[in-house]
Amino acid sequence: MGNSAAGMRQHTADVVHLPQTNVVKIQIRELQKRFALGSRRVDAIDNMDLDIRDGEFFCIVGPSGCGKSTLLRIIAGLETKSAGTIQLLRNDPSKPLNNMVFQEQSIFPWMNVRDNVAFGLKARGIKKDERYARVEPFIRKVGLEAFAEAYPHQLSGGMKQRVSIARAFANDPEILLMDEPFAALDEQTKFILQQELVRIWEETRKTVIYVTHSIDEAINLGDRIMIMSARPGRIKEIVDVSAHFPRPRKVEELKSTPAFGDLFGHIWSNLKHEFGTVKGDAR
Ligand code: ADP
Ligand code: MG
Repeated sequence: MGNSAAGMRQHTADVVHLPQTNVVKIQIRELQKRFALGSRRVDAIDNMDLDIRDGEFFCIVGPSGCGKSTLLRIIAGLETKSAGTIQLLRNDPSKPLNNMVFQEQSIFPWMNVRDNVAFGLKARGIKKDERYARVEPFIRKVGLEAFAEAYPHQLSGGMKQRVSIARAFANDPEILLMDEPFAALDEQTKFILQQELVRIWEETRKTVIYVTHSIDEAINLGDRIMIMSARPGRIKEIVDVSAHFPRPRKVEELKSTPAFGDLFGHIWSNLKHEFGTVKGDAR
């Protein structure tokens, strides 16, 4: 089975080498994704046009099953698209193009924190001394310097996600794709990790696409928030957060501002109609 049913063309993203001056990092046009589920077809993404800017923190919110993970997986090259184009504009061919951070812990239990964080660099053939030197600041940025020699079973859930984040940034990809990375954590840990992520991102200014089901989280982190409709996933609205909250941001202060409440109310009033609606499957 899979998605190779008749009539479904197979494509992956095209990588285009362009000079650094180009401000659009990811250009998506008329993107469609249709899965074959037995004899049924499931439209996951329908006719999406989207530009994501170089260095932007772009958040995506939408009801469960609306195609958020599918979109990230297509951008990552882990999933094919059914139609349309995606262009990823490359600034530095010596860096990995993208790096995915998942909700579930994806660190290796047999490696200590330092080696987990250095994994991507090792895979790229970077020698031990250099990769340890390069991961050191990121281990510090996520507050794990006292645990560099510890193994995952000795860490809490929040600490393991810190390892994933340090690894993703140390790997230095052009695009960071994050799929609900904090969803399994308790509120306090989540909040602390949001603060750390904002701080690291503000230093590195990577292009980040961040999927979350939390409106709060999207406002805390994002420059813009894309609200998706229930399946088939379409763009309902793109909200500009950066117009309200300039950088650098103090996550702990945002929530008490009137603008936060206004934005939350606006996004929720738009999103709430999407819960409980599943529309338009082709049969
Ligand atoms: P989200 O991340 O927004 O919760 P997904 O992108 O995981 O949603 O899924 C979007 C839709 O596509 C869902 O209806 C899901 O069942 C369907 N889907 C995802 N992956 C597959 C697959 N490999 N085969 C068939 N259907 C899939
Ligand atoms: Mg998902």
